[in-house]
Order: sequence, then C-alpha cells, then structure tokens
Amino acid sequence: MIFSNLLSNLCLHIGFMNLAVKVSLVWLCTMCLCLIVPAISSADTNKTSVVRERVSNQIAIPSLKASYRKAVVKKPVIRADNVIPFPSLKPRHRSSNFKKRVIVIDPGHGGRDPGAIGAKKVREEYVTLKAALELRKQLLKTGKYKVVLTRSKDTYVDLEKRLLIARKARADLFISLHADSLSKRSIRGASVYTLADRAQKRGQNITQTQNWILDVDLAAHSDPVANILVDLAQRSTLSKSDEFADILIPNLKKQTVLLGNTHRQGNIYVLLAPDVPAVLLEMGFISNKKDEALLNSAKHRKKLMKTVTKSINSYFNAQNKLQASR
Ligand SMILES: [Zn+2]
Repeated sequence: MIFSNLLSNLCLHIGFMNLAVKVSLVWLCTMCLCLIVPAISSADTNKTSVVRERVSNQIAIPSLKASYRKAVVKKPVIRADNVIPFPSLKPRHRSSNFKKRVIVIDPGHGGRDPGAIGAKKVREEYVTLKAALELRKQLLKTGKYKVVLTRSKDTYVDLEKRLLIARKARADLFISLHADSLSKRSIRGASVYTLADRAQKRGQNITQTQNWILDVDLAAHSDPVANILVDLAQRSTLSKSDEFADILIPNLKKQTVLLGNTHRQGNIYVLLAPDVPAVLLEMGFISNKKDEALLNSAKHRKKLMKTVTKSINSYFNAQNKLQASR
C-alpha cells in the first residue's frame, strides 16, 4: 500500500517536470542499469559456475561408471575371480607342445559327505581319495603333467568349488572318481560317464550366472553369433570327453570287470565346465562285496590308476598328432 502511494506520487512529480529534467532522469536510470546489471549478471555467473562445478562433481561418478561399463564390455577376458577362459576354440597348446598338460583329479565326496558305504563299511570318500592320490603319483611319474586335486584329504568340497578348481587350473582334462552303489548288491563293474547333450543348456546357464569368461571375444559378435560360438566350443569339449572315454574303456576292460553299457551319459554337475573335457569314472560298485574288496585294495587301485594314466597318455598323444596335422 505504502509502495503504491510512493509510486503514484513519483509519477505525479515526473508529470510536472520540464523536458530537460526528464532527459536527465532517463540518463541517470540508464547509467544505473549499466552498472547494476553486469554486477548481478556476474554474480549469477559465479553462482552458475559453482552450481556447474557441483553438478560436474555429481556427474563425475556416473561418467566414470559409464566408461567402466564400456571397458567391461570391451574386455570380457578380465575378471578378478573366475578368470578362467571358457570355450576354447583356439588350441591352447599350439605355441608350445612342451607345456605340461593340467589334469584335475576330483576324488568324490569327503568330509561330512562319506558317499556310498559298502557292506563291510568301506566308505566311498575313502576309496576315491586313495585312488586320486595314486593317480596323481602315477601321472607325476611320467613328468608330462601338472596335477591338481580338488581335495587331497578328508574334507568336504562342494560341487561348485570342484568345478571352479578345474577352471582356475585351466584343466586340460578333468577326472572325477567315484564308486557306485545299488540296493541290488549283485550288480558290479566299472563305468564311465560323460556329460549328456541335454545338460549343455545347464552348462550355459552356469556360465552365465557365474560370469565365466570366454576365450572367444563374444563382445565382438552379435548375440546369435556368440551363442553359436559357445555352442561350438561346448560340442568340441563334449567330443573330447567322449574321445577320452573311448580310449579309457577298452583299457579298463583289460584290468577289471565293466558294467554293461559302460559308456554312460548323465547330467552331472562336476562335468559341466564347458571348456574342460571331463569324465566321471565309477570304479566299481561299493555295494557289491567283490567290488568293495577290490576298491579297498591298494594293489587293485594301483592297477586301475595305471590304466587311467596310460589312457591319459594315449589321449594327449592323439591330441598332439591332431594339432600337429593342422
Ligand atoms: Zn559318488
């Protein structure tokens, strides 16, 4: 109210001023505006720059994140934990045939998981560990292999960890040792399992959920092409597993009783690493008295593991010849 009275009085006074006074007043106002506006503007600019600075500080993290994301997409081969390349489409040992092959031996069960228990109370976890230690001894004696065990004592190792051990070791071959068991105690004989075709999808799922990294630069390909490459690599691994089984079974036949339909296929977790040729050897039926006694015999286990070693030698000789012919 007071402000409007002042304004009306000012207008009344201006109305009574002569022209010279009016011109002076306009000039004075213009000068004031020239001095005040830049000052306000400069203050605004300072405020804006502070705000921008703050904003730029705030967006610094998202922009870093963005570049990090880009780096991850471009570099699928790098990962802190599970760094093991998967689908190996390139022969790993092309440059050096003298490099020792890595064999991962997986003694089934252990610790709180004793596995099957025989009529004479022989535990599966015991015979698998003893057999694994014997196999390691036999393999190291050849001087050709680096040997990794998923467990070397009576401890519990879960299936996922066993698989990761194989991948971290960059296994060229994975052998899981077990002893079978059935309520029908007359059944006996060894058998060899490889991964069933139908389990491939499960392997792909594990690969995705665990972010396993591939030798193949999948980021460089579209999704359908990447899927085809993974599929091809898996098929190649399955084929190698079958090749090893086909060498192992006739050799085993010379040394022990075999279960009918000896080469079997199953959806078995420890065989799922899609870049590691893998077999599971059921060394016999611990539920069968004769097999239980054999599995509990160091002499028999030594004979069996010598056969496995011989088969591993034959398998890699064949692989070397194949690579040399390429
Ligand atoms: Zn078992």
